[in-house]
Amino acid sequence: MIEQSQKQNILIVDDEPGNIKVLTELLGSKFTIRAATNGEKALKIVGSDKPPDLVLLDVMMPGIDGYAVCQRLKTDPYTQNIPVIFITSKDSEEDQVKGFKAGAVDYIMKPFSPVVVEARVQTHVELKIQREFLKELSFRDGLTGIANRRRFNDYLSTVWDFAVREASPMALIMIDLDHFKGYNDHYGHQAGDTCLIQVAQAMGAALRRKVDLVARYGGEEFGCILPKTDLDGAFLIAERFSDSILALQIPHSPSTTCSCVSISQGVASTMPSKDSSPDDLLKMADQALYQAKETGRNRYCRC
Ligand code: GH3
Ligand code: MG
Ligand code: MG
Repeated sequence: MIEQSQKQNILIVDDEPGNIKVLTELLGSKFTIRAATNGEKALKIVGSDKPPDLVLLDVMMPGIDGYAVCQRLKTDPYTQNIPVIFITSKDSEEDQVKGFKAGAVDYIMKPFSPVVVEARVQTHVELKIQREFLKELSFRDGLTGIANRRRFNDYLSTVWDFAVREASPMALIMIDLDHFKGYNDHYGHQAGDTCLIQVAQAMGAALRRKVDLVARYGGEEFGCILPKTDLDGAFLIAERFSDSILALQIPHSPSTTCSCVSISQGVASTMPSKDSSPDDLLKMADQALYQAKETGRNRYCRC
């Protein structure tokens, strides 16, 4: 089992306070419990800054019923990975099919056995932790510890879809170290690796908004995704990247551009629409990066 540093968070949704009390007594020593007595309150808690790790959901409730709550959670990319277990007195096979179709991972019938509830909750919480751990590993660059290209592509399409829906702009910066082949040839591959780690961390530290992402795109090239950002906003970040890399003052004697390690950047911003794709934005940023290289390096250009 993967080590857990703090108690996992469970949301119990039931319009009958007696049921909430029993389930809280059963699970309260192992998990942090929050409760909601209707679907609206449940959706509010799930959409908060601290979403639950698992939802125990009643079906029959006044207002939005359990199936509808589950369906909503499963269609929202921010909540679709939260496991939902139905706990209900609706006990026909048809009801169960409806529950699984709505996206539940499990279905427990009332009156429930405490042992069964505890075991199934435990299992699904552990599975969720393991899934997240594996996802986190698969999204991380092995050398620098920042996001990798898989994460970059995944996040790019998420942000793109969001921007289309919200009609908001987004920006992309492609970043490439200057004369890095020369750096490796002169200082050795290990020193090159250390330099890449320093550069990656400096760029990570230069970002202040939680939604911004910098990733290692490949080799000595990095990509930065900036949701809700226009060209002026992206220039500010490019300036900050440039300053923070120069501030590292990593000597680069073979460079014909600068006495220390520098970067070239291609900046692009667009209003995503259904008629264009993230690839178009990538191409724009790539072209701008090419221009930055062609016009002298250690600078940022726009497309
Ligand atoms: P430019 O200013 O035009 O970008 O020139 P450059 O030398 O940086 O570009 P080029 O694409 O010719 O060389 C990239 C070099 O980056 C090749 C390789 O030596 C180095 N590199 C790529 N990945 C790694 C890595 O993981 N570790 C190390 N140490 N070096 C790497
Ligand atoms: Mg380079
Ligand atoms: Mg390169």
